[in-house]
Amino acid sequence: MRPIIPDYLIEVLEDMESDTSGAPTGYIPELAAADPERLGVAFATVEGEVYGAGDIDTEFTIQSISKPFVYAMALSDRGFDSVLARVGVEPSGEASNQISLERDTGPPLNPMINAGAITVHSLAGTADLEPSARVARVIGGLSTFASRPPTTDETVRASEMAHAHRDLAMAHMLRSHGILTEDAHAVVDGYTRHCSVLVTTRDLAIMAATPANRGTNPLPGEQVVPEPVVRQALSVMFNCGMYDAACDWATQVGIPVKSGVAGGLIGALPGQIGIAAFSPRLDAHGNSVELQGGIGFAGAESVQCNT
Ligand code: GLU
Repeated sequence: MRPIIPDYLIEVLEDMESDTSGAPTGYIPELAAADPERLGVAFATVEGEVYGAGDIDTEFTIQSISKPFVYAMALSDRGFDSVLARVGVEPSGEASNQISLERDTGPPLNPMINAGAITVHSLAGTADLEPSARVARVIGGLSTFASRPPTTDETVRASEMAHAHRDLAMAHMLRSHGILTEDAHAVVDGYTRHCSVLVTTRDLAIMAATPANRGTNPLPGEQVVPEPVVRQALSVMFNCGMYDAACDWATQVGIPVKSGVAGGLIGALPGQIGIAAFSPRLDAHGNSVELQGGIGFAGAESVQCNT
């Protein structure tokens, strides 16, 4: 019997196509040139079947969707105590590039905002790694989650780095608080490099299927990260994955998700599937507009969860 999932995905895309609100991000100039008409959605099951509709083989940069995966790498490489001492797990209720540090101690509120993700980059791999080796550990790790050799978009990376004034300011502040112990510029450079890893919607579905499958990538059947790490990363995605719209998502959609400013979005349904979608049209929170419409989010009332 013909599986019903491909027809369902085509239907989802048809529903989303009419929403042409939103626009590609402008703060990384190179991303502003993205084709807003691109639209794709894919599922990868925990058994390793991949289904998709639309532009699922178009490449774009992973951006903030890297954050939960690099967090998982840092937890695996350094242990929970060491990571939790430097990055919290509370929703910030603020934009990704907000300078969010806890009042008394200084650690960034969570690993899904830039201040946390920059710190997390410095915690992947062993403490003695040179910056280039740390980048290799992170990009190699992302490639293991995606089951394909890593490539990066050098033009997007250079464009982001040339405008990374806020991220650099945050990194210097983190360094002054002793949360970052490495050269602030080198860490932001490394973070920007891992944000420029190229992925497709198909790749992202497979990446999302790994946490859905308790840390085992369903394609090679290889355990990428231990189960307690997966639980931690999914919890943080659930509470903080959509920036200042995180609790809207938690209440309206209810699965762990992570967005990226290039227009990608992943979700993980534990024990079942990894979901990925792509549309460069973003809303004011930096989350893809059409994809939210596609999962029945449009029109939801705002709920604040960090008060
Ligand atoms: N590389 C981007 C930045 O740090 C990622 C932001 C995002 O995808 O939300 O600004």
